[in-house]
Amino acid sequence: MKRRDFLGKAGAAGALIGSGLLAGCQQTDTAPAATPAPAGGETIHWKMVTTWPKNFPGLGTGANNLARLIGELSGGRLQVKVFGAGELVPAMQVFDAVSQGTAELGHGAAYYWKGKTPTAQFFAAVPFGLTAQEMNAWLYHGGGLELWREVYEPFGLVPAAAGNSGVQMAGWFNREINELADLQGLKMRIPGLGGEVLQRAGGTPVQMPGGEIFTSLQSGAIDATEWVGPYNDLAFGLHKAAKYYYYPGWHEPGTTLEGLVNRAALERLPADLQSIVMNACRVVNEDMLAEYTHGNALALQQLIDDPDVDVRPFPDDVLRVLKGHTQDIVDELSAKDPVWKRIAESYYAFIEKSTENQRVTEVANLATRSL
Ligand code: CA
Repeated sequence: MKRRDFLGKAGAAGALIGSGLLAGCQQTDTAPAATPAPAGGETIHWKMVTTWPKNFPGLGTGANNLARLIGELSGGRLQVKVFGAGELVPAMQVFDAVSQGTAELGHGAAYYWKGKTPTAQFFAAVPFGLTAQEMNAWLYHGGGLELWREVYEPFGLVPAAAGNSGVQMAGWFNREINELADLQGLKMRIPGLGGEVLQRAGGTPVQMPGGEIFTSLQSGAIDATEWVGPYNDLAFGLHKAAKYYYYPGWHEPGTTLEGLVNRAALERLPADLQSIVMNACRVVNEDMLAEYTHGNALALQQLIDDPDVDVRPFPDDVLRVLKGHTQDIVDELSAKDPVWKRIAESYYAFIEKSTENQRVTEVANLATRSL
């Protein structure tokens, strides 16, 4: 079967998922249950490397769900073993490992690979950009996924959306941010484009893996950090290391997590298994957002009720300046890189159309809750 054929089929399908399987994937088991191999048939074994600590809530459990779903949907014909960050390869080598075929599958976030191509950042999160709902609209129906496949094609990789955190939080701060001057010299753990924006605003972005954040914040090595949102931040205990919890996550308005598939390995599979792999990513994409939406709701309440935590909004004046720096960075890259320019045009054309629709639907509806 030609690659274009399976990509088309995998992209369009969504109906093969039965209700029993949907019920199963809502569980967040600590490890994927192995599905018994079919009698007499060939069993294919794949490895999945991930950028997350093993079993980490939402991110790691999403990777586990992906492996389990592929096993279940294939009737045990394709079995996937999950490796946490550092177990088979370090977190930041997941892209290379899947590209080279060390593992057939990977789970991570595209903005980690901006060193390979800066355009990868569009497929994870852009400051002041698309929300989770809009990312899925752009990827699945607005041409975004085709652009993503084009960007990863030279690396022998087929990407898929395989999770979303929803709107993140601006992060944990050990000082108040009342005006732009308060960002001067602020040492903050913040990756990607958000970090570049902070730098232009006078701050000092610091890169560090999730596992080092708590100690760095507590010791004062950094003044602030972003991680994900209440559900994940509580799991790291960040509320015990800083007082001010700012919103919204201007830098990550709906971060897409990714499934990375080695193209040669995918093409060796029969057509039905290819479709199962791509559609399992799609199920996990939706289920992870549901897990975050639920987990964040419970965790935020716990943080609001904590007398040692002060949940507050970033000042509009500060956000306005950060938004201006974001636009400058996007425009500068467009002038330098024609691929970046083409993706930016597609991305921002959709934002422009979507904003009015969101205003009269989601935004207007949420406003009625406080009537
Ligand atoms: Ca984040």
